[in-house]
Amino acid sequence: MEDLWSDAGCGSADALDCCAYGSRLLGGDRSLVLHGGGNTSVKADWTDVTGRTLDALYVKGSGWDLASIEVPGFTPLPLDRLHELLGLDALSDADMMAELSAARLSAAAPQPSVETLLHAYLPFRAIQHSHADVILGLTNVVAAEDTLAEVYGDDVVVVPYVMPGFDLAVAVRSCWDDQAHDGTVGVVLRHHGLFTFGDSTREAYARHVDLISRAEAFLDRVAPHEPAGPSAAAQAVLTELADLRRSVSEAAGRPMVVSRHHDGAIGRFVARPDLADLAGRGPLTPDHVIRTKRTPMVGRDVEGFVAAYGAYFERNGGRSDDDLTMLDPAPRVVLDPELGLLTAGATPKDADIAADIYRQTIPVLERLEDGRGGYVALDEGDLFDVEYWDLEQAKLRRAGAPKELAGHIALVTGAASGIGRACAAKLLDRGAAVVGVDLSESVVDTFDGPAWLGVPADVSDHDAQAAALRAGVERFGGLDLVVVGAGIFPGSSPIADLDLDTWRLTMAVNVDSVAALFRDAAPLLFRSPVGGRVAVIASRNATAPGKGAAAYSTSKAALTQLARVAALEWAEHGVRVNVVHPDNVFDTALWTDELIAERSAAYGMTPEEYRQRNLLGMEVGAAHVASVVAELCSDRFAATTGAQIPIDGGSERTI
Ligand SMILES: [Zn+2]
Repeated sequence: MEDLWSDAGCGSADALDCCAYGSRLLGGDRSLVLHGGGNTSVKADWTDVTGRTLDALYVKGSGWDLASIEVPGFTPLPLDRLHELLGLDALSDADMMAELSAARLSAAAPQPSVETLLHAYLPFRAIQHSHADVILGLTNVVAAEDTLAEVYGDDVVVVPYVMPGFDLAVAVRSCWDDQAHDGTVGVVLRHHGLFTFGDSTREAYARHVDLISRAEAFLDRVAPHEPAGPSAAAQAVLTELADLRRSVSEAAGRPMVVSRHHDGAIGRFVARPDLADLAGRGPLTPDHVIRTKRTPMVGRDVEGFVAAYGAYFERNGGRSDDDLTMLDPAPRVVLDPELGLLTAGATPKDADIAADIYRQTIPVLERLEDGRGGYVALDEGDLFDVEYWDLEQAKLRRAGAPKELAGHIALVTGAASGIGRACAAKLLDRGAAVVGVDLSESVVDTFDGPAWLGVPADVSDHDAQAAALRAGVERFGGLDLVVVGAGIFPGSSPIADLDLDTWRLTMAVNVDSVAALFRDAAPLLFRSPVGGRVAVIASRNATAPGKGAAAYSTSKAALTQLARVAALEWAEHGVRVNVVHPDNVFDTALWTDELIAERSAAYGMTPEEYRQRNLLGMEVGAAHVASVVAELCSDRFAATTGAQIPIDGGSERTI
C-alpha cells in the first residue's frame, strides 16, 4: 500500500481537518473500503455556545462515504458520556443508537457510526478503520490465528468475529486487556477488518499503510495472484438476459435492474469447476451481505435460489427475538458460466454497488482457495444476524418508498435534445433507468449518473440502432419502456418539386427506423416484468397535414399507423402502445428560426401568429410532451392502448 499522505494535501494542522483528509485517503482505495464501509475518528475539544470546552469524539457519521467525507460528516459526542455507556453490562443495538443519537453535541450532525463506542474505547487520539481485502485475506482462512501471528507477531490485537455494536466494543476491550502492550499498533477483527491508531491521523494512517503492506507482501509470497487474460465472453442472447431479469424481478416482487459484467478475471472465475462451492461459502465481510445477499446464484435457476433462501430464513429466523419478515429472496449476484457476472438491484446504483463488491471479492476468493488451503467465510448464522440486524432493517425502512418508475428500463431515441431529451429527463426523474440514443455524440453526457446510458447511433442505420439496444440490455437487463423521439423535418417543398432522396431519408428516419426498432424490441417488451409500454412522438401533421410538408406529414401518418398495428398485435403480450401528436413545440432542435419563417409563410402567417396559432393561445413546450409521455408510461394509463393524444394547444382541424 502506497503512503499517499502529504502535509500540503492535508492543508491544515487542525486535528479534525487532518482526520477528514486521512479518511479520504482510506476511502479512495477500493481495496480498503467500498461504498460506506470503514470509519474514522479523532478526539478533540468541543466548545459549546457558552464557551465551555469538553473532551469530544468526532466520529464518522452515517450517510457519509469515506471517499468524499468532509468535516461536517463527523459527529461530535462527549467522551465521558461514551465511557459511561461502555461501562454498562449490556446495551441493545437500538438502545445504543438511541443513546448515541441523543448524546450528539450538535443536533445538525449525522447519526454516529455503529462502531462509535469502539472508537471511544481505544485510548488514542486518532483512529482509522478499514475492511481491507488483504486483512480479510489473512483472517478468512483455516489457521487464521497462526497466519496473523506469522505476519504481525504480537504487534496487533486479534479479536474473534463479533457483530458491530456494543458487544464488539466489549470484545475489543477484553482482547485489548489480554493482548495489548506498548508496541501495539493495530487491532485485527476477524472476518471484518483493521483498526489502527495513533496520536495523530498521520500516525494512524502510517500504521495502516505499514500493516496493510505487510499483509500484501505475505500474500504475494505465499499466494501469488496471477492476473487474468483478456475477456473471452460470448455475446449474450438478449432474450436470455430479459428472461433472467424477469425471473429475478418476480422473485423480488418489483422490477429490478440486472447488469452484465465480463472481463478476463470474471471469465476465469465463472469457469472454475468448484464455482458453486467456493462462491457459495459466503461474503468476505458480513456487511457485504446487505448488498450481495449471503451467496450468489450460480447458474440461472432463480426458483431454486428462492427456495434455498427461504430455507435459510427458516433455519435462522429463530435467532432473533423479534418476529422477522423475510426480505425479498431474489439474488443480487449471479455467476453464470456463459454470461459471466450479473448483478441485480432495485436501481442501477444498487446493481453497481453489488458489482463493485463482487469484483473485489473474486481475486480474494481465488488466492485463498488456491494458495492458502481454503477460503473460510463466517457461518450462515452470523451472516443472517447482519442481514436481519434491526439497525440495517431500520436503514431500509428509512429509505422510503421507491420512485414510481424505479427498476423500469426505458429506451428513448432522439434523447440528446428537444422532446426526446425532455422525455428522458422526466423518466429519469421518476426513477427509470434510461438508454438514450441519438445521432449526436453529446448524448453520452446528456445526463449523469448510473441510471443513464447514452449511446450515439444513427437510428436509420439498423445495425447501429440494434447495437444501441444491445448495449442497453447488457447494462440494465431488459426493456420496459420505449419512447420514439427521433425524427427529422426535411424542410418545406411542394409535391411538384419533390426531391425523392429527401423523401426517402425522411421515411428512413421517421418510419423505417421505428419499424426496425419495434421488430428488435418486441421480444424484450414481451418479457417485461411490468408490461411493456411504448410512446410514439408523431405529429399533428399525421391527422392535419400541412401544405409543403408531404414527406414529413406522410412519414408521421405512416408512423402512427405502425404504432396502431403494434397496439393491436402486442396487446396479448401486455404491451401498450400509444401515440402523441405534438404541434408548435418550438423549443426543439428541429425548429430553427429559418424553418419557423418557412412554415409560417406556408400558412400565410407571421412567425408570431404561427407560434400561437392554437385555440388555447399558448406556446407548447417539450416539457408538456414529456409529461404526457411519462404519464402514458405510468400505471395510470394501464387500461389505455392504441390512443392518439394531441399536445398542440387545441386545433380546429383536429377537434
Ligand atoms: Zn467495520
